[in-house]
Amino acid sequence: MTELPVVRAALAAWYEISKRDLPWRRTRDPYAIWISEIMLQQTRVAAVIPYYERFLALYPTVDALAEVSEPQLLSAWAGLGYYSRARNLQAAAKTIVALGAFPRDHATLRSLPGIGDYTAAAVASIAFNLPHAVVDGNVVRVLARFLAEPVPTRSRIQIVADEFLDAAQPSQHNQAMMELGATVCTPKDPQCGKCPLANWCQAHAKGLARELLLKVTKTVIRRVERSLLVVIRNGNILLWQRPPETAILSGFWELPEPHQLPKARIGRALHHFKHRITNHIYTIQVFEASVRRAPPPLEWVSPHRLSTLPLSTTTRKALVGMTHL
Ligand code: SF4
Repeated sequence: MTELPVVRAALAAWYEISKRDLPWRRTRDPYAIWISEIMLQQTRVAAVIPYYERFLALYPTVDALAEVSEPQLLSAWAGLGYYSRARNLQAAAKTIVALGAFPRDHATLRSLPGIGDYTAAAVASIAFNLPHAVVDGNVVRVLARFLAEPVPTRSRIQIVADEFLDAAQPSQHNQAMMELGATVCTPKDPQCGKCPLANWCQAHAKGLARELLLKVTKTVIRRVERSLLVVIRNGNILLWQRPPETAILSGFWELPEPHQLPKARIGRALHHFKHRITNHIYTIQVFEASVRRAPPPLEWVSPHRLSTLPLSTTTRKALVGMTHL
């Protein structure tokens, strides 16, 4: 496409005046950019911001992240979900410390735990201005519409993204493409009237913008009821830790459910709340209970120790307001 320099310039000019002020856009620190990219996988921007700021306040350097204990790390990550991301972050931080410096090339970044093609390209370009085109869901949608190709393959999009990349300013270009997909060329409601690419966009020219890549798979919501028991004796509370081999939330501490304490005397209902995980909506009832014996893996946990343990989000929510703990 002979007009590519003009298209790139239009995109860059739009980004300069339209970009959102996000905390990770105020730094070139590769460590901070890497943390933001990992947090932004599967989590919305608005939800990530407070976690990002708190995480960097707690662990401002790669050395600090490498040294933190796993329970503290999981505690800082609690609420973001997908805990393998936190564990991979720390494994990568340890590798970086062993390397002696933050990697400045795509191949080394790509070799770190938890870093795939997208994250390696994002960190290499945004932090070091290296010419690697990022391809995330937003970029796929923008380019598929730009070309009016209904079902392009990922490799086809990567080739187009590489060609479209502004090698003189890859950091700005990549962020502009992702921003355009997130704020203008959105899945259901593309705002072609506000789009810097509209003059060259094939989907817009053919009136196909809304049809292309409008793959809205209907999510089937499953509703599940659960109960959690708050058992307190002599100021200590009964909890159990998920073993390392569990697929989700391994290492986290939880309140017991009734089937774990079949001989418990279940008392009054304390409160209930809803908790959503992907397509499951849990309604969780919290009850007082008492037991004579606490079978393993249940353990009595003192209030002091409780404050140091990584608790699952449901257990945190269940214990909200229990100031005597
Ligand atoms: S013109 Fe419309 S369809 Fe084309 S890239 Fe812009 S917002 Fe998307």
